This record gives sequence, structure tokens and C-alpha cells, in this order.
Amino acid sequence: MSGDEAADTASELRQLRNQLAAVSHEAELRNIALQRSRTRELALLQAEHLPSLLEHLTGYLRESYQLRRVTVLLQDPQHEIRHLLLDAGRTPEDHPEVQFIDSLIGLAPQFNSLRSPWLGPFRGADHGLLFPGGDALASIAILPLLRQQRLVGSVNFGSADADCFTRREDGEFLAHLAVIASFCLENTVNRARLLRSGLTDVLTGWHNRRYLQTRLREELSRARRDGTVLTCLMLDVDHFKRINDTYGHLAGDRVLREIAQRVEGEVRGSDVTARYGGEEFAILLPQTTADEGRILAERIRAAVADEPFGIAGDPCAITLSIGIAELRPARQSGDFKALGEALIARADAALYDAKAAGRNRVVVA
Ligand code: GH3
Ligand code: MG
Ligand code: MG
Repeated sequence: MSGDEAADTASELRQLRNQLAAVSHEAELRNIALQRSRTRELALLQAEHLPSLLEHLTGYLRESYQLRRVTVLLQDPQHEIRHLLLDAGRTPEDHPEVQFIDSLIGLAPQFNSLRSPWLGPFRGADHGLLFPGGDALASIAILPLLRQQRLVGSVNFGSADADCFTRREDGEFLAHLAVIASFCLENTVNRARLLRSGLTDVLTGWHNRRYLQTRLREELSRARRDGTVLTCLMLDVDHFKRINDTYGHLAGDRVLREIAQRVEGEVRGSDVTARYGGEEFAILLPQTTADEGRILAERIRAAVADEPFGIAGDPCAITLSIGIAELRPARQSGDFKALGEALIARADAALYDAKAAGRNRVVVA
């Protein structure tokens, strides 16, 4: 081997050694990243309650990723998650980085089709609502929270570093984390639901009377604060005893379930539906007048009356009577329990009038 050849071989060897070192370093970094991401996921999985999960999602992940902000958006149109928090002895204010919203649509353009994490530059006009408070952020990641393939919220990472989320593996790790976070949310919400199942009606899956009474006080307090009106609908099935007497109690139960489904098809997510008693239902319509409520009530009445129910192979006409009352709480009003009872009583009186006038109709108090 000549002197030149020996020098070439030595240089090639050096290059190979450097390449090997670079690859090993890369593998080592990836290994560390994998370990860290496992630790984070385990921490989320170990959160036993909704409040601790929300704390982990915001505080713990922010520290662990050394980010400026981590916020969470949760779609909660029925206020259910907020109520579950209250049950656990917390208030939504205890979780300042969590926003509870009626709908994600319009909060950021990414929500139109978010199925996996979105990583990119922070733009104030597009992403300001995800990070209220106006921090100086440079790059962000939006992790979808999915429930049965439906987008129900997001975990939002905000970094002051423009290159924070650029490596391909970052996307992979975050996609995995988003799945774990979605699973944990569903799990803790379900657990909390079970705890409060004393507030849910088993037959229809609707809230029960006890829940309605609590919620009525809250909505009245909100209506007073915002100077708005609250409308209450009371629904009663006409001649329901005949169904039971003719077809039996089980068939009657199936009819009640179908009535609840048909009504549900007409109301909005922000309306509060409850099974008030046996075959009586109540609906609260926030920020809605009695006249507006009448339009909805007519739709509900028609949804039940226009299509016969199939009972034991027979097409069977079933109708509802509906009473409506509205209340605009005065600035100085305070006893929301008494106000709520009075509102229900007036809607009930209107319902009685609807029965007296021949049933299958809507009457406004
Ligand atoms: P109307 O309201 O038009 O005056 O007549 P109605 O026959 O519906 O009279 P009422 O409201 O007094 O009777 C309601 C009946 O509903 C009586 C009760 O046995 C029955 N009922 C109440 N809860 C349930 C239930 O969960 N399942 C079934 N199958 N029946 C129920
Ligand atoms: Mg009744
Ligand atoms: Mg009845």
C-alpha cells in the first residue's frame, strides 16, 4: 500500500467512525425522547380524577415540555363536565388554563378538520382564542381530543421557540400523546358520571328532576346576571295510561324512550332536557323567550304527533301537551329556588290548560 492509499483509507475510516457516532447519537436522543414520552403518558394514565387529569394536562405537561403555555379546550354544551368538576369539589375557576365552550367551530381554522396534531407557527389572528392572555408565542401544537371519532376538545402547546415542534418524531410522539389524553379524558369523565348517576334517569338517559332543580337555579342566576330571559317547557304525554293498559308497562317504557329521542332531535345542545316525572318532561331554554319557545314546542309536538309509534306491530298515534312559561329575573331577585318553583308551577298551569283545551297542543302561560 502506497503512502497516499494509506492516507485515503485512514480518512475513509474516520468518516465512517463519525457517521457511526452521529447515528448512535441520533438513536440515543430518540431513545431519551421515547423514555420521556412514556413517562408523560404514564403520568396522564395515573390521573385518577377529572381535576387531577386537567392539572396534568396543563401544569405537568407544560413543565415537562418546558413550554410557555399549555391550554385545554373542552366542548361542554350541557355543562356536564363543569358539573362533574363541581361534584369533585372544584370549580372551573380552579383550572384557569381550561376553557369550557359550547362549540369548537370558529375558535381556530384548524378545528374544521383536526384528526391528528397540527404543528406550526403561532398566528395571533388564528390562534389567539386558544391562548387567552396574549402571550408572545412563536410555535404551537394543537392536539385533538377525540371521542368516538368526534372532536370534543384540544390540548394546545405554546412555545416561545419558533423551532420547538419541527422534527418528524415530534409529530409521532404528540399523536400518541393525543390518543392517550383522549382516552384519559373519556375515562375520568365516565368515572365521574357514575358517581353522580343519582342525577340521571336510567330509562331515557336524560337528566332527572333533581338535576333540573339544581340547573334551574344556576340558569336563573345566570339570566339575572346577564339580564336575559329563561323559558321552561313542561311536556306530558296524552292518555299515557291507555298505552300501559293496552300494551303493558314494558311497551310503555319503549314509547317513553322513543318520545325522548324524538324530542332530543329537535332541541339544541345548550337546552337542558330532563325527565321530570313518569311521563312528564321538562326543557329549559336559556336566553329564549316564551314566544321563541312556542316555535320549538310546536316542532316537538309535531315530531311526536305526525309519525305513529309502532307498538307490538300496531301503528299507534301518540300526542303531547306542552305548557310554556318564561321568566326574566329582576336585578334584585335572590331566592332562585323559589323563583324556579314558581316558573315550573306556571309552565305546569299552562300544561293543565292545554289538557283542558283538548290535548295535543301548546299553551303559553
Ligand atoms: P293525561 O296526561 O292526558 O291527562 O292522561 P294520562 O293517562 O297520561 O294521565 P296521567 O298523567 O295521570 O298518567 C300517567 C301514567 O303514566 C300513569 C303511570 O302509571 C304511567 N307511568 C309513569 N311512569 C311510567 C314509566 O316509567 N313507565 C311506564 N310504562 N308508565 C309510566
Ligand atoms: Mg302526567
Ligand atoms: Mg299524561
